[in-house]
Amino acid sequence: MTIPRNGLTILGPALALALCMSNYVCSSKAQIKPEAFHRLVGGDQVDLYTLKNSNGLEAKITNYGGIVVSLLVPDKNGKLTDVVLGYDDLCDYLANTPYFGCIVGRYGNRIGKAKFTLGGVDYHLVANNGENSLHGGRQGFDKVVWKAERVNTGDGPALKLTYTSKDWEEGFPGNLSCTVTYTLTNKNCLKIEYAAETDKPTVVNLTHHSYFNLKDDGASDILGHELMIKASKFTPVDQGLIPTGELRAVAGTPFDFNKPTAIGARVGNDDEQLKFGRGYDHNWVLDRQGKDLELVATVYEPATGILMEVRTTEPGLQFYCGNFLDGTNKGKCGIVYQHRTGFCLETQHFPDSPNHPDFPSTELKPGEKYTSTTAYCFSTK
Ligand code: BGC
Repeated sequence: MTIPRNGLTILGPALALALCMSNYVCSSKAQIKPEAFHRLVGGDQVDLYTLKNSNGLEAKITNYGGIVVSLLVPDKNGKLTDVVLGYDDLCDYLANTPYFGCIVGRYGNRIGKAKFTLGGVDYHLVANNGENSLHGGRQGFDKVVWKAERVNTGDGPALKLTYTSKDWEEGFPGNLSCTVTYTLTNKNCLKIEYAAETDKPTVVNLTHHSYFNLKDDGASDILGHELMIKASKFTPVDQGLIPTGELRAVAGTPFDFNKPTAIGARVGNDDEQLKFGRGYDHNWVLDRQGKDLELVATVYEPATGILMEVRTTEPGLQFYCGNFLDGTNKGKCGIVYQHRTGFCLETQHFPDSPNHPDFPSTELKPGEKYTSTTAYCFSTK
């Protein structure tokens, strides 16, 4: 069956879903059928790819939006647990997704008033979040079909995805050739390597948007997860979630996660920044030693004993605790995702950097190569 590119916009959600009705019934949390993803979208073939490492960890990834559909890791009793939220049918992703598991680009997070100036030229982007641009615009990298190729990087099974974003796509200048390689390493990390090149000066900020739940497939909230972020500052925002430009110390605020702390311990505090974000939805300025892959955050869930470590080469980390999940998304195995049943740790440059010359630059010029690496690593304790 062929679904037009961006089925939702062209067909409307009801028709897209009706066209996509499949007789797939979820039989086990670990089983997602390739048939539910094997479809043509806008004439491009979409599929589901399975990566399995030497320890039995398994990731299922679709080339539609580069979405990580499932990620099975062992808990402290050795039982495989799916630690990401999502859907078990491509059609649900086409109809309505709050960016479950996808690649985000060309610019992750917000650009204020959907505009910026580069080299003296004003660029106007598609505004898709009030007056702002969010996650690349209306049809960002999460809603396009990537070319997929299985590769072996030496670290474990891998999937290489490529996509060329056209000059002016969503208002961004320059043809941007992008490669995103997912490797499920034999050291139990989901490693994501991003690379991009442009033919005109542009801005780039690619990230990954898995909603993690280390406990129970998203059946209950993540407030008991213990989070550590190595950062002594964060970027406070205005009411539209655009950074004010200040780098504020976390010490003495609910934003201090230098010692592992339950996500829910302070999320309800009377704090202006928490009100603006409706909870945590902010960028932390990571305390880094250098430019290499470094451990910047950990999350631990006592009930399952699952520990996730985040390593990255990026200067920032957006911690979003699923404040906008509201029970309208029925996910894998029929689980309805309620408020704060998943959290995202999006490694990135800071939001709205093109409008903040003091922030680390997101500009990419012809002849330069954008690279970024992040690994989500799993163990138990
Ligand atoms: C943003 C949130 C947004 C969410 C969309 C996050 O990266 O920080 O503000 O609502 O993505 O699902």
